[in-house]
Amino acid sequence: MDEKLQPILDEVLRRNAGEEEFHQAVREVLESLGPVVARHPAYADGALIERLCEPERQIIFRVPWVDDHAQVQINRGFRVQFNSALGPYKGGLRFHPSVNLGIIKFLGFEQTFKNALTGLPIGGGKGGSDFNPRGRSDAEIMRFCQSFMTEMYRHLGEYTDVPAGDIGVGGREIGYLFGQYKRITNRYEAGVLTGKGLVYGGSRARTEATGFGAVFFVRQMLATRGTDFDGKHATVSGSGNVAIYTMEKILQFGGKVVACSDSGGYVVDESGIDLDLVKQIKEIRRERISEYPRLKGASAHYIEKGRIWDVPCEIAMPSATQNELNGKDARQLVQNGVIAVGEGANMPSTPEAVRIFQEAGVLFAPGKAANAGGVATSALEMQQNASRDSWSFRETEERLERIMCNIHDSCADTAEQYGSPGNYVLGANIAGFVRVAEAMRALGLI
Ligand code: GLU
Repeated sequence: MDEKLQPILDEVLRRNAGEEEFHQAVREVLESLGPVVARHPAYADGALIERLCEPERQIIFRVPWVDDHAQVQINRGFRVQFNSALGPYKGGLRFHPSVNLGIIKFLGFEQTFKNALTGLPIGGGKGGSDFNPRGRSDAEIMRFCQSFMTEMYRHLGEYTDVPAGDIGVGGREIGYLFGQYKRITNRYEAGVLTGKGLVYGGSRARTEATGFGAVFFVRQMLATRGTDFDGKHATVSGSGNVAIYTMEKILQFGGKVVACSDSGGYVVDESGIDLDLVKQIKEIRRERISEYPRLKGASAHYIEKGRIWDVPCEIAMPSATQNELNGKDARQLVQNGVIAVGEGANMPSTPEAVRIFQEAGVLFAPGKAANAGGVATSALEMQQNASRDSWSFRETEERLERIMCNIHDSCADTAEQYGSPGNYVLGANIAGFVRVAEAMRALGLI
């Protein structure tokens, strides 16, 4: 760690005691910034990096709601408005029992860099709740979303803060949240939320965007080594929105997906994962992935609580959640001959795992670059809402593809400029940082 940056990290650790994921995210970025501050000392002036590590605003609120048994339930809601130098705060909402302030801060911090990398006018934010949607009825989900929005609406606006989905928040939840926002404000302000349904202002290709984008990014990385997805075996952890559309695009590119998972365990299917079946189980029935072998038959096995990274593959795409791939998993993947790892989730690899991949010469795409396609397409949704327009699937997907290629090239070029060719972590952190830092300097001390 650079000697100018170490005291900044020490202060972040002191001031945000116990928020381990936030510490991890900040440490990883500051470890990359040494070469920039050495070359451009002005970036370390005016406490710019200290300001970048301190959210502009942190909102915590009570979410009371009534369950189906007429019992009152209390959850905690969060919105961390991290940085608005480049545009309105932008980032998803996560509903999961693991959510706490530290998790939302790490996600908001990552989002700030990710959004900068897209080149689009969006700042960084994140929110959510420790509400557990699992096993809740549709009516309960609606009541929870309405109560959550009844507090959050006052902090939002198409020019202020624009949430979207994340773990536990998909099209259904965005619909209920948007309905309540519209009701309270009496404004049909479509650009205040993204990930909306197509009938009320959503964008085509937004549902697919994070997964498709991650695969576009990995395809660009593979091309630097003169190869592609065709005929390669891939493992995709998770089976939610990101994982499903990651698998879909891998299949379109001629790859074979051999395993996917959920928090209970993983499924291996020798004949290749049947994506329609996964969609049916997860998107329609809202069941566990353990149902898969029962419906698929002999080629598939479910391994309860197993590590999906034990399954041999050439391409690994962790698309479930933070710190789901540790050093031991990374060593196993390297031993099994992995050539590329693309993070569909936010910070799924531990710092040790990242180091192991890099030392082994594995192509490694960090989440803040590889999974930026989701938020980029959210920004395209905002553009369509602002112009009261709606583009075709093809046009939207083409724009997404261009954005992902640009992000890939800017990470690769930046890594090269700073003397670490092929280091996408360094490239993403520096390229994202420079864009936010330039805007922050221009806007003065605010
Ligand atoms: N939750 C997604 C992410 O981590 C998407 C955010 C958005 O579309 O605003 O980037």
